[in-house]
Amino acid sequence: MHPPIPFNKPFITGKEIEYISAAISNSGIAADGYFTRRCAELLSERFSIPKVLMTSSCTSALEMAALLCDLNGGDEVIMPSFTFVSTANAVVRCGAKPIFVDIRAETLNIDERLIEDSITSKTKAIFVVHYAGVSCEMDRIKGIAEKHGLVVVEDAAQGVNATYKGRALGSIGHLGAYSFHDTKNYVSGEGGALCVNDSRLVERAEIIRDKGTNRSQFFRGAVDKYTWVDEGSSFAPAEITCAFLLAQLEAMDEITVRRRAVYQFYLESLSPLAEQELLTIPTAPENCETNYHMFHILLNDMKTRDGLMAHLKHDGISAVFHYVPLHSSVMGRKYWQNGESLAITDDLSSRLLRLPFYADITTDEQARVVNSISEFLERPVSHSSRQ
Ligand SMILES: *Cc1c(COP(=O)(O)O)cnc(C)c1O
Repeated sequence: MHPPIPFNKPFITGKEIEYISAAISNSGIAADGYFTRRCAELLSERFSIPKVLMTSSCTSALEMAALLCDLNGGDEVIMPSFTFVSTANAVVRCGAKPIFVDIRAETLNIDERLIEDSITSKTKAIFVVHYAGVSCEMDRIKGIAEKHGLVVVEDAAQGVNATYKGRALGSIGHLGAYSFHDTKNYVSGEGGALCVNDSRLVERAEIIRDKGTNRSQFFRGAVDKYTWVDEGSSFAPAEITCAFLLAQLEAMDEITVRRRAVYQFYLESLSPLAEQELLTIPTAPENCETNYHMFHILLNDMKTRDGLMAHLKHDGISAVFHYVPLHSSVMGRKYWQNGESLAITDDLSSRLLRLPFYADITTDEQARVVNSISEFLERPVSHSSRQ
């Protein structure tokens, strides 16, 4: 029996311990020391983001974004239903209502052609999600937002180091949110960043991040004492988190090269099955460069997806489905009372399977995944015989 193949495994560069030791001997291990600054500078320079504020998670960054949108009770925010709960929670916590829009079949991203139909006088913002590190149609979305005076927030949790027309995801909307969670490309266990692309929002973003105080201005010498000036919370990460993260960000190119090879291997070895129309492999629009965040396949129906998932599990391979669409979740139904169906979201989420994907997965392990998939899909008998 072969050792099991996990779905995800964080890649360790080898420098993490050294940087954490340095953080400890530097003496301040709370927020905003050397490593926090270095991470923010690196992201800001590399991705041309005017202001990057490191946060304790992407969830925190999204919460800050929602506060910066000035959401109030009764306001509406447009977003896909096919996303992680944090996108919607950020909005709901401000008393606003998520308005779910269906996705495009090609990318599983919000369908920009449907956005305008959902805009009302209460709409304040559009929260887009770049699924699997492939960009939404940002030019079109920004055009709609401009026309209706809406704020654009990019949930770029999965999109760090991916681009749209040469621009980094997270740097395109008014605000962007990154994740460095264990399951993402570059990790610090938990961690995130808020990209502030609209300079008018920088000062308030710093205040919200620092418990509603103007402490950043105080440290810069702009005010002579610091005090409570706005709402806020404790959104900054500890230095040790950023020490770990800096090691990862410095190795971004190496990690990406490895992930690209993993992606290409799946793409090439699964394309014969795609040609036989037994599954669909991911594609990216021409102007979108992916960061190889994940490799997901679509099976022809839910029964085949569930059967294949069980078959892989039996072979010691962990492949997993993704989001329960928010509009059909326990919490989401409270906001989606008309019960309207989102046809593409419902269909694709029932047929999607994510394959084991991490920077140091071996080609032998990947070949085992591919063989197990082929064995299941190419068997002449009905797939249901396995269940
Ligand atoms: C992972 C993820 C998040 C949450 O990130 P955390 O850093 O764990 O808070 C939010 N949105 C999307 C789309 C994600 O994939």
